[in-house]
Amino acid sequence: MATPSNPSEIAREALRLLAVRRLQPSPDNYRALYHEIAGTQPADALPQRELRSLAASLPQETPAQQRLARRLEQVFTAGNWQQLGAGLSDVVRQIGKEQELPWNELFRDLLREWENKQAGLTVARKREALERVLAGGSGSGEKLFGRLQGLVKSWSAAEPAGEDIPLLAPDAAAASAGGPQSADGSAATAAVDGSDPAVQLRDLLAHLLEALTDSQLANEPDLAADARALIHKVRTASSRSALDDLLASSKRFAFRLELLAEDRDELRASLLKLLQLLIENVGELVVEDHWLRGQIDIVRDIVAGPLNVRSIEDAEIRLKEVIFKQSQLKHSLNEARESLKQMLAGFVDHLAEFADSTSDYHDKIEVCAARISQAEDIAQLEQVLAEVIRETRIIQLNAQRSRDDLRAARQRVGETERRIAELQQELERASTLVRHDQLTGALNRRGLEEAFEKEVGRAQRRQSALCVALLDIDNFKRLNDSLGHDAGDAALIHLATVIRETMRPQDTVARFGGEEFIILLPETPVDDAQTAVVRLQRELTRRIFLHNNDRQLITFSAGVTDVRPGDTQASVTKRADEAMYAAKQAGKNRVLIG
Ligand code: GH3
Ligand code: MG
Ligand code: MG
Repeated sequence: MATPSNPSEIAREALRLLAVRRLQPSPDNYRALYHEIAGTQPADALPQRELRSLAASLPQETPAQQRLARRLEQVFTAGNWQQLGAGLSDVVRQIGKEQELPWNELFRDLLREWENKQAGLTVARKREALERVLAGGSGSGEKLFGRLQGLVKSWSAAEPAGEDIPLLAPDAAAASAGGPQSADGSAATAAVDGSDPAVQLRDLLAHLLEALTDSQLANEPDLAADARALIHKVRTASSRSALDDLLASSKRFAFRLELLAEDRDELRASLLKLLQLLIENVGELVVEDHWLRGQIDIVRDIVAGPLNVRSIEDAEIRLKEVIFKQSQLKHSLNEARESLKQMLAGFVDHLAEFADSTSDYHDKIEVCAARISQAEDIAQLEQVLAEVIRETRIIQLNAQRSRDDLRAARQRVGETERRIAELQQELERASTLVRHDQLTGALNRRGLEEAFEKEVGRAQRRQSALCVALLDIDNFKRLNDSLGHDAGDAALIHLATVIRETMRPQDTVARFGGEEFIILLPETPVDDAQTAVVRLQRELTRRIFLHNNDRQLITFSAGVTDVRPGDTQASVTKRADEAMYAAKQAGKNRVLIG
């Protein structure tokens, strides 16, 4: 059907469509169908296009303006004037609500906190912070409201003045350098003096965490990341909620650290067990261990006792000695075994050669015997005899050469044996060159040199006192002369044992000369060092030396001194020696400070 063009046709068609679409025959529906067929707009229809361009032309410079434009755009999609009116009313009501910020309450709180006294917050500091908030708050009342609210909160979160200093006060750095917003988004915090103990404590805590991260968490990336996050929080947290968050994170971090410490303890215990197992079996593994056993026992004792850095260092030194000796011995044994093998092979070769030549000789002699029995005249006999003599001479020469070779071989065996003995002696010499005195097990001079360097370095790093004591047994020559050299040796061993068992594990004991010992006492002021050596004297009278069940009192004189700036090992030892000499002059059996 052609599109109806005159109003009566349009009206008829509208009625028909009402029936076809089964719509209620209301005036609104009739009017809508009429305009649909006629292609016209009803008189109350909204001008959609104009409204859309109106919405687009609204100012949209701030987030609030953008939000309003979006809401209006939605309202403008309304189907009729009635809906548009309702939508606009909603928008107006909403704007009204938003503008009703509780400024009165905020000002009341602000005034209250302004008058309250908080630790580290002077009026001047408060004014400075307030001015910064006001300067940064232009543009939006809502934003300014939020910043002022944050500022008031941070003041109320600060501890009242005159009470205990809070561990975590607002961050002065954030307040003075970071502008009105602090790192966690809250309003600018009040400034605090850099000399404020709370600020110093906060810095110290962050510093401690940094040191912990660098020294202990290098192989723990997760924990190190947690530590870094915590450091950031320590440095920036200022609002109450940020501090609460910091506290919770710190507790979690501490708990994880405890777990890590437990893991490390377990690991240490397993490593120790492994080391013990290894040491216990070294004795079983070595071929010739009579001079290794002592060293191994010492290492086993060290590992069995409570561990500290020095005892581990000592164990390392002694293990190195064991390894050194072991490798030397293995080398010489291999060499000896190789030359014996070669000699045996040469000997067997000679025997075989000799056996070959003798059986050859026998064959030839048999042929000659046959020719002799068949000989018919002297001339023939002479010929055969000449042959027999020649063959016999050859076999004689062969036998002689074999004997010479065997003699030379025996000589070489002797030389090899001598070489092995020399090597053994060299080993003994080498073992005295290493760091421990073979008789007493104390460090020797070379070991003392190394220990002295280490202790001086440690004392400098820790800025702690280091003392040196030099001990000389009194009247030792008399003891030697009356009881014999072996008794003297046993007395030296006894003294070294008592020193080791009386002094602290971190003290180093070295045999300095015949009957002289040096003790290094780290982290000890000189008066305490003197007291410690006097205690050692008393212990020596209690644990008396027994020789053939006879009680022999051993005493010593000692000089004690502290290591001073610019000292060398020689200068310290000289001072200690002079003090020791003074102790001898003063009647022996005493300890003097040099
Ligand atoms: P003073 O009280 O003045 O120190 O007298 P002293 O007899 O202890 O001193 P002196 O230096 O005259 O004698 C030290 C003796 O120590 C000399 C030496 O025979 C002995 N001696 C040194 N080393 C050893 C050793 O390894 N074993 C033994 N048994 N004696 C040693
Ligand atoms: Mg002496
Ligand atoms: Mg002496």
